Amino acid sequence: MKTLADLDLAALFDDWSNEGLRLESFLSRVTEGCVAWFGAARASLFLRADYTGDYILEAQAGNWPQLPEHSVLRAGEGIAGTAIQEGKPRLVQTSTAGISSAMIIPLVTVESGCIGVLNVARSDEQPAFGDAELRLASTLGRYVALAVNNARLFVGMNQAIGQTRALNAKLDAIIANLGVGVLVVSEFEEITGWNPEAYRLFGERIHAGTHLTSLLKHAPLVLRIAMDQAFGESINGNRASRRAFDQNTGKAWTVVSSPLPAGGATLAVQDVSDHEHAQRELSRVKRLAEIGQMTAAVAHEIRNPLTGIRSAAQMVQQINDEAGEFGKIIEEEALKLNSLCDQFLEFARPLQLNPREMEPAEIAKRVCDAHRSEFEAASVELETEFQPGKTQGDPLRYEQVLRNLLLNALQACTAGATVFVDVSPESMTIRDTGVGMDPAELDQLFTPFFTTKPSGTGLGLSTVRKIADAHGWRISVESTPGQGTRFELDLEKAA
Ligand code: ADP
Ligand code: MG
Repeated sequence: MKTLADLDLAALFDDWSNEGLRLESFLSRVTEGCVAWFGAARASLFLRADYTGDYILEAQAGNWPQLPEHSVLRAGEGIAGTAIQEGKPRLVQTSTAGISSAMIIPLVTVESGCIGVLNVARSDEQPAFGDAELRLASTLGRYVALAVNNARLFVGMNQAIGQTRALNAKLDAIIANLGVGVLVVSEFEEITGWNPEAYRLFGERIHAGTHLTSLLKHAPLVLRIAMDQAFGESINGNRASRRAFDQNTGKAWTVVSSPLPAGGATLAVQDVSDHEHAQRELSRVKRLAEIGQMTAAVAHEIRNPLTGIRSAAQMVQQINDEAGEFGKIIEEEALKLNSLCDQFLEFARPLQLNPREMEPAEIAKRVCDAHRSEFEAASVELETEFQPGKTQGDPLRYEQVLRNLLLNALQACTAGATVFVDVSPESMTIRDTGVGMDPAELDQLFTPFFTTKPSGTGLGLSTVRKIADAHGWRISVESTPGQGTRFELDLEKAA
């Protein structure tokens, strides 16, 4: 009589841990082992198909005629089906179909129930199986059931790991290319994760364990406050969003902070400067168009009565000398108003560019020379530097821009100050050591009708802006109250 020790279980399970051993070949070994150990005519092994619940033939061995491929057993049908249902091994003594006896061993696991059936049969020329052999086969069945179950769990786990990895990689790729800087911050305010965009936003200062405060030390104040506040709210379990706008650089960010289930928070920071800039530009253009329309309408309405006033003033001048003096004043003032209307209408009219090759230095020299006497009268120094060379642009408009900036600079200066003009084919810089502007003034600088001068129109710089925009030139302004102002026009940005 064989015992468990006689079954070469070691050979069966030895290289099971070896990943190269597939479930199929293990099942074949089991059936081959059964034929050898129990001196059986045939051993067959069926496993449950997860989708149908049927038991499908997976392996068989022995010198008896083979069972058809994909043979199926169903729970509850026949002797084997009953054994499956009961989950108990059975010894079947029969004299049908040349079989003398068979052992039907359901493969049962705690987690998954009956996952398969092992069937070992002897022919009627062999002695029938006894209870001892059934016990042995049952023991073997438990090992096999465990091994198959583990193998399946192992495959399932590998699949799940593979899927998780793929999902992670996908998520990483999405987060990396989001155009949003992502920081994972622990409840102790330590950075534990980040994406490449975060590097772009905060420089190379990020390392695992970097403290949020030290990371933000170099960030603009408004961004720091926004992130601090949003993070603070998330630590209390709330999702928070903030906007930050830096007046000095014109940069803007949105910050979204979400609490993490295990404590800490993720901070998503997006640079929305371009978007904000486009939005502001759009509303500026809209406002300009409205102002332009209104200006044109008003100027037009004023012009007609002005013609009447002028002819009346001319008639008044003919009455007598005294009336003539008043009539003259009225006519002169009416003429001034008329020229103001012309400026308004000119401003409101869409800009017509006539671009061609021009020599900025030549134009600048002419404009500066024409105004030199005004500088002398105001005791303001005019220093010029002209670099020769040609570029594309509308020379008349270029002249208009230069004249506006030059006269503004002069008007900002008191005696003893200096205006520097530096002109090349690539750029124009007008710098003065005049009164300068505070941030509030700088903010309104290009708004039509914004002026601080008693007789100013406030249209000079909006015209400059209009001409620069039409050419694709970029204007930048720096100013310090009490120290002076610097306007720079970058002609290279021509569209
Ligand atoms: P206006 O010259 O008719 O006032 P502008 O549009 O040319 O209109 O200028 C608008 C305002 O911008 C000025 O009134 C002045 O307050 C300010 N400004 C322009 N240029 C300078 C400058 N170089 N220095 C100081 N303030 C300036
Ligand atoms: Mg002006």
